[in-house]
Amino acid sequence: MVRGGLYDQHVHSWNSVDSKADPRAIVDRALAVGLAGLTFTEHYDRRAEEWPICVYDYERIAETVAGLREAVGSRLFVGLGIEVCYQPDQMDEILEHLDGHAFDAVMLSVHWFNDRALHEHAHWTGLDTVTATQRYLQTVLEAVRFVRDLAAGGRRPFHLLGHLDLVKRYTQRYFSRYEVRQYRDLVEEILRTCVEADLIPELNTSTLRQSLPEPMPAAWAVEMYARLGGRAMSLGSDAHQVDHVGAGLAQGAELLKAAGVPCQAVFMACQRHELPL
Ligand SMILES: [Zn+2]
Ligand SMILES: [Zn+2]
Repeated sequence: MVRGGLYDQHVHSWNSVDSKADPRAIVDRALAVGLAGLTFTEHYDRRAEEWPICVYDYERIAETVAGLREAVGSRLFVGLGIEVCYQPDQMDEILEHLDGHAFDAVMLSVHWFNDRALHEHAHWTGLDTVTATQRYLQTVLEAVRFVRDLAAGGRRPFHLLGHLDLVKRYTQRYFSRYEVRQYRDLVEEILRTCVEADLIPELNTSTLRQSLPEPMPAAWAVEMYARLGGRAMSLGSDAHQVDHVGAGLAQGAELLKAAGVPCQAVFMACQRHELPL
């Protein structure tokens, strides 16, 4: 029996290259804010030339999670997850890594497009909001089609699609605007493919504490997903620091319900549980 309550299925600790957060403090914070569970989705990025110190140390992460589980008992679910950076030319190695290890949840995220990292400011030279948004969403579509094709062959290594319109966080940062709605056809195709592939999109609330008035994706896209037959999404704060754990999740849950998605999808040992919100 899986406990009701909110699950933050997108959390980073010092086991990710871009976070200094102590996993024990993260768990304490999750308990303090009343979460039912959280999943550590540490970064797995194979482009060593751009992010040379991004190492996914499975043994260390698994040991951390096991220790935390023992410490908190039934008060909180602590999941072992991974946020895989989609790299079309590295998928064989990525799949091999996933096959060789046990996870609660595997998230696929696009952090690269145009063959460069999104977080690199230099990448944005010559790009504008509209072009970047289109190219980013096309890459996300390519990623979810990859997952769908695997599923057609009976393989389901991925469970979650991370922040499907992450590009808007950067266009807002660099150009003070975002234009995802202009490409609603692409968003629709991404969401339809998620439904076909049985890949759960997340509602990522990190933008709510940054410069945007909406999560990733926005309510209109969640409504679209519901119309396409989607019943459940995942909630994630994308916390990289302790005080962001669970941030925006209650608001996100309300948004999902209002938009016609009645459940949150929670993964434990790769099994999906749909919990009514
Ligand atoms: Zn990410
Ligand atoms: Zn993340």
